[in-house]
This record gives sequence, structure tokens and C-alpha cells, in this order.
Amino acid sequence: MVLATSTSLAVARSPWAEVWSLDRTTPHQGSTRPPTATPRPTPRAVEVTYRVDVRVPDPDGFAELLAATMADPRGWSRANFVVQEAPDALYLVVLVEGDEAQRLCLPYDVSGEFSCQNGPAVVINAKRWRAGVTHWPLSLHEYRVMLLNHEMGHLLGQRHRPCTPGEPAPVMYQQSGSLRGCLANPWPLDDEIERAARHDLKLAPAFGE
Ligand SMILES: [Zn+2]
Repeated sequence: MVLATSTSLAVARSPWAEVWSLDRTTPHQGSTRPPTATPRPTPRAVEVTYRVDVRVPDPDGFAELLAATMADPRGWSRANFVVQEAPDALYLVVLVEGDEAQRLCLPYDVSGEFSCQNGPAVVINAKRWRAGVTHWPLSLHEYRVMLLNHEMGHLLGQRHRPCTPGEPAPVMYQQSGSLRGCLANPWPLDDEIERAARHDLKLAPAFGE
């Protein structure tokens, strides 16, 4: 159990207080929560909304690719998640330089190199966004799609998955670290979709929770 007062203090101390004004204290709407029923496929879509804050030069249209990836029928939409940008969203996706990513990801250490999901925020490291990683064999566009599907997958409650050498890596495998003989893959695998479609995993906490 978390007391409201300690939650407020934690928010006030968080680096997010410097990123944007945290004036939200209401819990996010029920429509953004997964059903709490027993694990089984559900016909009801779960709506998840986010805001975008791009803090670096953005010649390639970060928000547009994010929106397209979330709407793509190969992505989490297959699991009946409707993930889209909205001005009053209680999740935030930021594109920032590595040093700011390091700060915003604390207590996770991303070494200034990687991206993270931290509470209600997805922090995309511009260093990776621009250049990908050297071991990635597909296009930069596909790397970016993988990165977005992975970090947004965390928002949807998905956790890291192992990969099997010679087979496509789950999108929730940490492909930015290494592929370890697995095949690069930007999209959730069928079994990842099946798992996510149960809608029984808790979403990341929204701002104000
Ligand atoms: Zn991850």
C-alpha cells in the first residue's frame, strides 16, 4: 500500500518534475486499464494514450513513426491495444539525448546509451534513435520500430523475454544489447501477442498514480 502523501513526495522528487509540470493527481481513467478478469482473450480493446515530448532535432518525425508503429496491424494492436497520442494522456514518451536519458531512467542505469520505460514514461535515447546499434542487421527504420515496440511493450506490462538462437527474437528480448544468434525482429511474435492479448498484465503506472 502506498500512501497518497508518499506518492506525492516521490513524484515531487522525481526528475520528471523538471521535465514537465506534474500537476496531475487524479488516477488515469478506467478505459486505460486492462480488465482484471482471469486470463483469457478479451474482445474489448484497451486504450492507452500518451503524450510526446521531443527534445532533440527531429528530422525524421519521431511522433509520426511512433503513431504508425502503434497503429500497425503487425504490432501491439494485434493484441487489441489501442495506443495513441492524446493531449490529456497520463503516459509520456520522450526523445532525449543520452545524458538526459541516463537521468530520466534513474534508478535504472542505461549508461547514457540505452532507452528505458520508467514508471509512466518511455525514454527513448536519441543516440540509439539516430544510429541504432552496430550489430543490427536490418534497416535503421526497422531498428526504430523494434525500439518503440519494445519500450511501449513495457508500458503495456510486457517483460523481457529470452530468445532462442536461430529463431526470430521476441520484441521484448533486449535486442539493442545483443542478438546472441537470434534473428533481428522489430515486431511482437505470435506468442507475445497471445500473451499480451489476455490483458491480464498490469500496465505501467500512469502519472498521478
Ligand atoms: Zn526492456
